Amino acid sequence: MTKVPEIFGSLVFNETVMKERLPKDVYKALQNTIKDGKPIDLKVANVVATAMKDWAIEHGATHFTHWFQPMTGITAEKHDSFISPTNDGKVIMEFSGKELVKGEPDGSSFPSGGLRSTFEARGYTVWDPTSYAYLRNGTLCIPTAFCSYGGQVLDKKTPLLRSMEAINKSAVRLLHLLGETDVNRVTTTVGPEQEYFLIDKELYNKRIDLKFTGRTLFGAKPPKGQELDDHYFGAIKPRVVEYMKDLDEELWKLGVLAKTKHNEVAPAQHELAPIFTTTNVATDHNQLTMDVMKKVACKHGLMCLLHEKPFAGVNGSGKHNNWSISTDTGKNILNPGKDPINNKVFLTFLIAIIKAVHENQDLLRISVADAGNDHRLGGNEAPPAILSMFIGSDLEKVLQCVEDDLPYNEETLNSLAIDVEVLPSFKKDTTDRNRTSPFAFTGNKFEFRMLGSTANIACPNTILNTIVAESLDYVSDYLEGKDDIDKALKEIQKKILKEHKAIIFNGNNYAPEWVAEAESRGLLNFKSSADALPHYADEKNIKLFEKHGVYTKLELESRKEILLEKYSQTINIEALTMLEMIKKDIIPAVCNYSKDLTESALAKKNLSPDIDVSLETGLVSKISSLSSCLSKKTADLEKALLDAKDYDDSEKLAKYYHDTILSQMNEVRAIADELETLVGKSYWPFPTYTDLLFSV
Ligand code: ADP
Ligand code: MG
Repeated sequence: MTKVPEIFGSLVFNETVMKERLPKDVYKALQNTIKDGKPIDLKVANVVATAMKDWAIEHGATHFTHWFQPMTGITAEKHDSFISPTNDGKVIMEFSGKELVKGEPDGSSFPSGGLRSTFEARGYTVWDPTSYAYLRNGTLCIPTAFCSYGGQVLDKKTPLLRSMEAINKSAVRLLHLLGETDVNRVTTTVGPEQEYFLIDKELYNKRIDLKFTGRTLFGAKPPKGQELDDHYFGAIKPRVVEYMKDLDEELWKLGVLAKTKHNEVAPAQHELAPIFTTTNVATDHNQLTMDVMKKVACKHGLMCLLHEKPFAGVNGSGKHNNWSISTDTGKNILNPGKDPINNKVFLTFLIAIIKAVHENQDLLRISVADAGNDHRLGGNEAPPAILSMFIGSDLEKVLQCVEDDLPYNEETLNSLAIDVEVLPSFKKDTTDRNRTSPFAFTGNKFEFRMLGSTANIACPNTILNTIVAESLDYVSDYLEGKDDIDKALKEIQKKILKEHKAIIFNGNNYAPEWVAEAESRGLLNFKSSADALPHYADEKNIKLFEKHGVYTKLELESRKEILLEKYSQTINIEALTMLEMIKKDIIPAVCNYSKDLTESALAKKNLSPDIDVSLETGLVSKISSLSSCLSKKTADLEKALLDAKDYDDSEKLAKYYHDTILSQMNEVRAIADELETLVGKSYWPFPTYTDLLFSV
């Protein structure tokens, strides 16, 4: 048996290792950098680098890498060995403070959305000392941020760190105005719940759609799907148990707080939830988790699918982003306590967040916009593409009393037209009932549920932190200079609630009526990424991000371009893969089957003209007419893809891919899937949904 406390963090250059190995003054200086964001002295960095290198070498490492998160959404690393030649033809192992603090990978192959012209190809990476270095496969990995030489950000981590600074500043300012003067620093915390599918690797290898696009582009519905609801929280199969055990161990060694694991709704679908931690560490850990998930799966002869919708008609995978704000005095600001109406800090922050979400529905929708996630949002399983907030009926009553200046007592509560049972006292678990809400208050945190399973959580959290910072500033601006803060606070709370309560919706977000209701409330409904992404660099958003020092106008515009391009490219690859599968596999299979049927019918007729061959002729005729139809739709799709060359504007191109290519792909698929139900199993060229979903 492995002892968990012993292996936990054994591959991490963490607090304990630092304390053990660094001289006291260096340790202190590093802590100052970590806790207060003070710049690091090169002398200190040299000592830290040497200690890191010695520790890494003792653990078998030979290389180091600056690990970063470029705009492609995955992580990148370039490995350098520690060797340095000596005069006698030998080498010593070296690692300097300079190498620790700054790296210079060739940035020219990473997307920059036009930010970095080619003659300025190099970007540089900068050490993020707030996230621990760790060891993987003989390499010391140093978490870093990635910038261009002009200083513009080229990664997802830098804006996240900037947004954490922004919300820190705004939250501390407001807390001081509210009398919480002992608070000096505020951080946001995140716990992302990660969903994934596991399928057999051999079957995976037979599907180029899974290989190239992460999802199945064809596949008829299996006779048994998830309708029996027998998978959710069900007994975990032995092979999956082994996988999960191995996964937990690998993650623990890397200091990832993997906590909960269970089966999810769909067959072959599972979830892993960590214990929450500081947002940038949670982000690094989630990227690491996804990577380790895939690697461990391979070891077990499995493939881990992280795509949002690997199988049509079956539940997709999301990532619930549990988010809260905590102070350096150890308080969770979003904990309402037993008496929320008198919890000034909680109530003010809650109300400010309501304003932030209502005013920035566009940004929150954009933060989860992705071609893969579009297959989920608005489906019958995930939150809709419309933003709204669930706060629970108890809190809604509290807010009603604030808005209407009513005393908060049993009499008032009973008279309020918010129809859920009146509870004797405020309880945490009453707030966690609505699983359909995209943005739900769940007791002591908000759960943003629109994220797709492949998402890097940096972007949604960058946006969340920034919009809340702005909203907190709005409250502070109102309070500042007022003699009677409590009176002013009541005024501003009422004002915000009146203006922004339209975003609160405690009902069923999956109900078709909600779409109409949301529209009448004036809420946004960006159905696809092609609708949402063009608004990223709207005037309001540029102003917001520039004010809080998170993105410059140029950076924001480049991000918009990168995301739009990625959207179109994703669909383009899918369409090309589809064409390849049709031409190389499906049509030959269908022809073979019809040929055999025809030959069988002819042979029978040869034997005796009276034999009934209606089965063969019926099938052949049905298959033939579907095949002709498929061939025609395929030609249309091919032509439509060529026409895409006519668009040089990224917004129009994305729209074209959504409106034209995607819908043609759906038509092609429908015919192919029908053919799959007719053609004999031994003829069909790929593993079916039944094979894939029940393979482990
Ligand atoms: P559930 O959502 O299933 O009720 P939990 O309440 O235990 O489960 O939390 C789910 C996720 O929320 C976990 O990853 C957990 O670490 C995270 N979480 C809990 N508290 C916080 C917090 N204060 N800040 C951020 N995440 C949190
Ligand atoms: Mg959850």
